[in-house]
Amino acid sequence: MSALNQPHFQDADKARQYLERIQWPNGPICPHCGSVSEDHYRLAGKAHRAGLMKCKDCRQQFSVTVHTVFERSKIKLNVWLQAVFLLCSSKKGMSAHQLHRVLGVTYKTAWFMAHRIREAFRDAMPGVMGGGGGPVEVDETYYGKAKGARVRRFRYGPKVSGTGGMHLRKIVSLVDRQGATRSFHIASIDAKNLKPILQAHIAKQAKVYTDTAGHYKRMGLAKEYAAHETVNHSIGEYARPGGIHSNTVESYFGLLKRGLYGTYHHVSEAHLQRYLQEFDFRHTHRTAAGVNDTERAIKALSQIRGKRLTYRRINGQQAAQID
Ligand SMILES: [Zn+2]
Repeated sequence: MSALNQPHFQDADKARQYLERIQWPNGPICPHCGSVSEDHYRLAGKAHRAGLMKCKDCRQQFSVTVHTVFERSKIKLNVWLQAVFLLCSSKKGMSAHQLHRVLGVTYKTAWFMAHRIREAFRDAMPGVMGGGGGPVEVDETYYGKAKGARVRRFRYGPKVSGTGGMHLRKIVSLVDRQGATRSFHIASIDAKNLKPILQAHIAKQAKVYTDTAGHYKRMGLAKEYAAHETVNHSIGEYARPGGIHSNTVESYFGLLKRGLYGTYHHVSEAHLQRYLQEFDFRHTHRTAAGVNDTERAIKALSQIRGKRLTYRRINGQQAAQID
């Protein structure tokens, strides 16, 4: 049976029940007053929208999609769940063109849905990385093409260095081998930009593994963290005894590049951070960490609240109700 044949992908009511079980494991939560109770009223019948509830305490109405990325959408909830599953299970992402064809929605709607789902991929309360004293690998990469230069595919090739990198988009990624992956689109790769990111996200008790780039030395990481170990790629060193390497973040970059170039083709500067959220989410909850496609989708569905994204906020232009 295809994964998408399951009832919650085929039927809007089943989809709502599925989402309610994920969002409300201890009973429906009124988003207006916070009351949690199995005794909130279900407003059934033709006069009401499907899934409408009435709070037994504050008497206001709500449904499971209020204050979520699915709010006020005309797209059926089971189609939304399909889109979430497809984006969660496709290692290199899925383009809006592909979503449009698979889901049977317009291209514009598919594009908008994917961006809302990327908001759900953002962890609103990220904990500190390497808190258990384990290694956090840090590395940077470049995306796009240098002005006036031929397109570099970067498949597994060397990083662009020197002035060639100046017009490229710069990305730094932090990979906790036991946990999260987080990436940041930054203006330039230097100690001044990198240090606040590392300080905000990496626990003092973590070991930090990087290459031998000068900006990591200038940050004084050995004093800030339990350890700072490096591998010297320029002399062909890729791993040292004791598991000292940055191969996890390097292989993550391989996946990220294959997705950004192969699936998404043209990611504008304005949207890059959202695409990074998408790849970070899948890598944080990766198969190698014991998370399967269904569990990854459930995790995304647990993060849909408080993140409703409007068209205005996405592209900075006029607001439009497109779905
Ligand atoms: Zn209430």
